[in-house]
Order: sequence, then structure tokens, then C-alpha cells
Amino acid sequence: MALSVAVRAARGRWARGLSSTVPPAGGTGGGTAGGTAGGTGDTIFALSSAPGRCGVAVIRASGPGSAGLLRSLTGTPGPPPPRVLALRRIRDPRSAETLDRGLVVWFPGPNSFTGEDCAELHVHGGPAVVSGVLQALGRLPGLRPAEPGEFTRRAFAHGKLDLTAAEGLRDLIAAETEAQRRQALRQMEGDLGRLYQRWSHALTQALAHLEAYIDFSEDDNVEEEVLARVAVTVRALLQEIRGHLRDGRRGELLRGGVRAVIAGPPNVGKSSLLNLLCRRPAAIVSPSAGTTRDVLEVALDIGGYPLLLSDTAGLRRAADPVEREGVRRARERLCQADLVLAVLDATSVSPTPAALGAALAALEPPPGTPCVLVLNKADLLGGPRGSPGGAQGPPATLLSCEGSPSATPAQGPPATLLSCKTGEGLEALLELLAQQLAQLCGDPLSGWPSLTQSRHSRHLGACAAALARFGDLGDSGDLALAAEQLRLARRELGRITGHVGAEDVLDIIFRDFCVGK
Ligand code: GDP
Repeated sequence: MALSVAVRAARGRWARGLSSTVPPAGGTGGGTAGGTAGGTGDTIFALSSAPGRCGVAVIRASGPGSAGLLRSLTGTPGPPPPRVLALRRIRDPRSAETLDRGLVVWFPGPNSFTGEDCAELHVHGGPAVVSGVLQALGRLPGLRPAEPGEFTRRAFAHGKLDLTAAEGLRDLIAAETEAQRRQALRQMEGDLGRLYQRWSHALTQALAHLEAYIDFSEDDNVEEEVLARVAVTVRALLQEIRGHLRDGRRGELLRGGVRAVIAGPPNVGKSSLLNLLCRRPAAIVSPSAGTTRDVLEVALDIGGYPLLLSDTAGLRRAADPVEREGVRRARERLCQADLVLAVLDATSVSPTPAALGAALAALEPPPGTPCVLVLNKADLLGGPRGSPGGAQGPPATLLSCEGSPSATPAQGPPATLLSCKTGEGLEALLELLAQQLAQLCGDPLSGWPSLTQSRHSRHLGACAAALARFGDLGDSGDLALAAEQLRLARRELGRITGHVGAEDVLDIIFRDFCVGK
């Protein structure tokens, strides 16, 4: 194998570095995550439930002063037994006035969320109770209010979760639909982190074998086929990573919401469609053409999937400069769409694949973006379907201009008849949209866990590039450079999970958490 040519040149250099770059067993962030939030020894506290009036509010604390604060606020000599709710009178330690009667819990570290000693106070959720308890805590020595995400950041610093799990937790708190919740929970429970750990482990082994070969091949106890095995491992890994990257941004779409744009000529019922789908008069509906100028966006939950739906100006050559700007914005939004809802007036287009295809093409949807054709004003259709002014019976779904709703682009996009006026055809449209969303976002519980952040894709792309370079180097035979590529690849994986060099992203990731999380 050509790689062996450079054995002597590389001898010793790579083996020396190996042990120092292997992530610490069991831990995640280790020293990398300490920062200002990790290892100050402060005890932090915050309201962890949502602010505002509620039945029960949860105030939590983490740090060495947690047992002390329980003693001070409950007037007892020690904390209650670990992880058992205890009913206590909660008092202001300065005045001894009772602030509330609530439940307290004691989580001694390291068996706590952050890995530190933690305490929770479950009090009545009135603003005066909560602020009274928070003020009392703030007056205790060594305690300070937590920064946004500081509890989770401490958990990361103590190896309780890796960065992907922390991101999963943040997404779980932000999840608004069922599919988002499933994906976030899966990531929080470590599925994605475990996948990257497995890859990182395989790379570490490959690197160890390569370095052993570099160092010891002349001593006869390391055989040449080691190199072949390393090459096979790296090729398989590269294939897996490329497959993972080629997921059509499913996880990212599910996490951030699928951007769908309602596009079509003026006056076909685009604003009416937006209002129908969000069940409120969010957009102005008017018989005069060219009323919609700004892009209007609403967030919807369709079959458990998140949809960010935009109503845009009717696409036509506009004389009025304001309308022209509206059309420009509509085109801009159309280019960014993940899904296009192309609305046409059912009374002015013939329902043949050729006519529908031509009408759709006139809207110039971005190539490759999935489209759904909505033929609106079905109530005005005459003939056997109904008479103008009122549909007779439910409008049939036009099944992809002639096929099924899951028709391939060659057959034309799926199409459905609708009347925004009567609501007929709405169920069929919702079903069609749910199918499209399921196709775009996938099932978050099946198969490999999805990539959910552009940060992950970036590092994985760099990892794959390094592995590809390793493969290319096989021919030139430079073992030293080959080993360096494996190191680079492993470092990129480590940056995703936070095992190495994650300092630059920690602030960005934890900034998006709320206080108390
Ligand atoms: P846009 O310009 O495409 O956003 O269209 P609008 O939603 O403002 O609607 C234009 C006109 O068509 C308004 O007068 C609506 O009341 C009317 N319209 C919208 N949907 C329907 C429908 O399903 N049936 C009928 N008969 N009229 C509709």
C-alpha cells in the first residue's frame, strides 16, 4: 500500500500526540466549558417555571450553597432526604416572616441536573410569593441570580450532557408541535450525540492503528494490513457521514419550521387561504386586486409539523411602485420557500395537466421546490360539480393533476380544489399539506437521528472533507499527512458534541436559553 512509503518520516510524531487528544472518558465538556459560568463556585438561583401568575412556581438553585439556602429558608438544621419532596414553611431569613408554605427538594451532587448540589422550592405561583422568595435568596451570601442557560451550561461543564443534548433540551423547551417535540426529545436523550461519539471512537481507533504502524511497523509486530483496515474504516465512515449530510435538511426544517409561501396571480384568494388556515382574519381580503403588498407570516401546526406560512402580493406586472415593491418581495420570499402553495382561480384554468402546468410555470416557482396547487373558488364552478354561486357536494381532490397526491414532479405537483368561501376542500388540503410536510421533515423517531443545526452540517462537512483528503493521500503515500487528516476529522466531530474547542459556540448556544433553564 502506498501509504507505507512515508512511515519513517512520520515515525514518532503522531503517536506522541495521540493520548493527549483523546477525549476524557465519560466526561464531555471538561475544561472547555468551564468559562465564567462553569466553575466559579457561586450558587445561582432563578425562577425555572414561566413568569406570571400560576398554580405552582419552581425556583431552583445550583452550587455549593444549595444546602445552606434550604436551611436558611426553612429554618431546619439540614436539608430533607435527597430527592424527596418535603412540605416546609418558607421564611425570609432576615425577618423570619413566612413567605409561603411549599415543597422543597434537595438534590446533592453529582446526582443532580447540573452535577452540583441543587435545591428546588415549589411555591405558590403568585408574583408576590415568587418575588419575595427570590429577594430572600438574593440576600443570602454567595448566591446570585442565574444567567440565561446557566443551569444547562453547568450541566455541560460537569459532563452531564454534551452540546447536542443541550441543544436538544433548548429545542424541547421551544418545541411547539408534536413532531418538533419528538425530534428534540430524541436529541436531548443523546441519540445524535451517541452517533457522533461512535464515529469519533471509530476515528480514534483508526488513528491509533495508523500511529502504531508509523511507530512500530519496523519492529515486526504491526502488520501492513493494518493500513488497509484503517483505509476501509475511513471509507465506510465517510460514506455514513455523507449519507447523514444528504438528508434534505429534514431535521433543520422540522426544528425551524417549513417555510411555505402562498403565491399566485392577484385576486385568486391567497389572503383568504391564509385566513382560512390560521382561522382568523390575519390578512386583508378584498375584491380589488393588488391589496397585499407586505409579506404576512403566520405560524401553523399542520398534523404535528410546524409550518411558517406567508401570504404575498399577487404576481403580475404592476404599474404602481408600491405594488411593484410588493411583487419584488413576493418573488424574494418565493425563492426562499421550502414549499409553495400555488393558488389559482379554479374558474379561470382548465383542470388538465397541461393547463395547470402552464399556469404554475407562469408563477416561476424556484426549481426543485415542492409545490401544491390550490384551485380556489370551487364554489363558483359550474357543471356537474356545482353551479356558480354554490358547490353541490364536496369538491373532489384533483389528485396531482391526474395521479395521486404523492405524484412525482414529472407528473406535476399535487393539486386540490378548495373554496375559501365555503370551506369545502379544506380537509383534503390539510391532508395534502401534512403529507408534504411529512415528506420534507421525515419521521423524527425513525432511522438515524436528524441533523438539526447548520452548525452540525458545517462541522460534519469539514469532517467529511478531511476524510476524503485522507483517501486521496493514500495514493501519494504521505502517512504523516494522512494521520493529520484523521485528527482534523475527529476534531470536527468533537466540536459538534463539545468535546473539543467548543468555547466559541458556547455563548451562542446558551444565550438562546431562558433564565432558569
Ligand atoms: P388575493 O388577492 O389573491 O389575496 O385574494 P383575496 O383573498 O383578497 O380574495 C379576492 C376576492 O376573492 C375577495 O373578494 C374574496 O372574497 C374572493 N374569494 C376568495 N376566495 C373565494 C372563494 O373560495 N370563493 C369565492 N366565491 N370568492 C372567493
